[in-house]
Amino acid sequence: MQATLDSNLSALTDPGALVPVAVAHGDGIGPEIMDATLRVLLAAGARIQPLPIRVGEAVYKEGHTSGFTPDTWDTLRAAGVLLKAPITTPQGGGYKSLNVTLRKTLGLYANVRPCRSYAPFVPTLHPQTDVVIIRENEEDLYAGIEHRQTREVVQCLKLVTRQGCERIVRYAFEYARAHGRKKVTALSKDNIMKLTDGLFHEVYREIGAEYPDIAQEHQIIDIGTARLATRPERYDVIVTLNLYGDIISDVAAEITGSVGLAGSANIGPSFALFEAIHGSAPDIAGQNLANPGGLLQAAVMMLGHLGQHEVAEKVQNAWLRTLEDGVHTPDIAGEHTTQKVGTREFADAVIARL
Ligand code: NAD
Repeated sequence: MQATLDSNLSALTDPGALVPVAVAHGDGIGPEIMDATLRVLLAAGARIQPLPIRVGEAVYKEGHTSGFTPDTWDTLRAAGVLLKAPITTPQGGGYKSLNVTLRKTLGLYANVRPCRSYAPFVPTLHPQTDVVIIRENEEDLYAGIEHRQTREVVQCLKLVTRQGCERIVRYAFEYARAHGRKKVTALSKDNIMKLTDGLFHEVYREIGAEYPDIAQEHQIIDIGTARLATRPERYDVIVTLNLYGDIISDVAAEITGSVGLAGSANIGPSFALFEAIHGSAPDIAGQNLANPGGLLQAAVMMLGHLGQHEVAEKVQNAWLRTLEDGVHTPDIAGEHTTQKVGTREFADAVIARL
């Protein structure tokens, strides 16, 4: 760990120094898209020192019931940044979601998920889509307070705090200002969940008053989701609670062409985690079919976070040129496709355009 701390310190004083970045290859398609992403980053000259950590299904099967090996937290805390491929989480039983554990333990309260269309090069339902979903990331029904009352009755607690609402709503308005965005829409269901979602709406109104330069609107989540699916161009930044944000970001990414295109940042006061928004896609794992674009987009956000803006721009431009040239993975193949390629070949194509 001392070596990691030393390289963290030297990165502060020497802009050419390598910054330690914890890297988790994950499950399913994870290792394939992580290899592709790291190859692109290193070819682009990213000043990062990848520190592999092991989390996920394989670790759990080895007998570590938390899904983490004991040394993992030390590496994470020393690095301060994690680039993570998706992890498989069993449905309905088995171990607790490692993603939720990571977000809560590392205090990653804001999940930022930009979703935009790449028309006309990538087939999309809505060419004008350019929306950033900002999702509260620690509370709500994902707080992990779920238990069985009787054999027939189970319950899950929806936890919403004023502090949590204030933090995420303020983050959304600050994000809008910093990124030249014009409107922040809040989505909640406070017609039914009057106290929990009601608190979120109330805080949105209060904090919104401090940002007269940003347009504001609130919608009930049902109609908001429907309009996002049919008229995404009317949204700019969306701020919402944890579960709603998780669901609507898959909707938004899918209408841009594929869930495989969107990356996300999970931000906390002293740690940041970057990942694709999609899961481990077991149906296509190990077949060189996965689109590494979502993880690559997450990595571009990570480079920005690390202050390596010129490398971020280089990777982003090469990736966009690859899409524009019609070099596509199967999930985004369409009339502009000139070459249908696998994960590895897609990474090669991006590297050739750096
Ligand atoms: P998924 O996102 O893994 O897959 C949904 C569909 O999208 C599949 O048909 C898949 O083939 C396709 N897809 C996903 N990513 C793609 C890519 N990069 N390129 C091309 N196609 C892609 O969702 P799921 O099947 O519901 O979940 C599988 C596992 O992933 C579950 O165990 C779930 O808990 C986990 N998961 C993990 C994360 C994470 O680690 N952050 C997020 C979501 C789901």
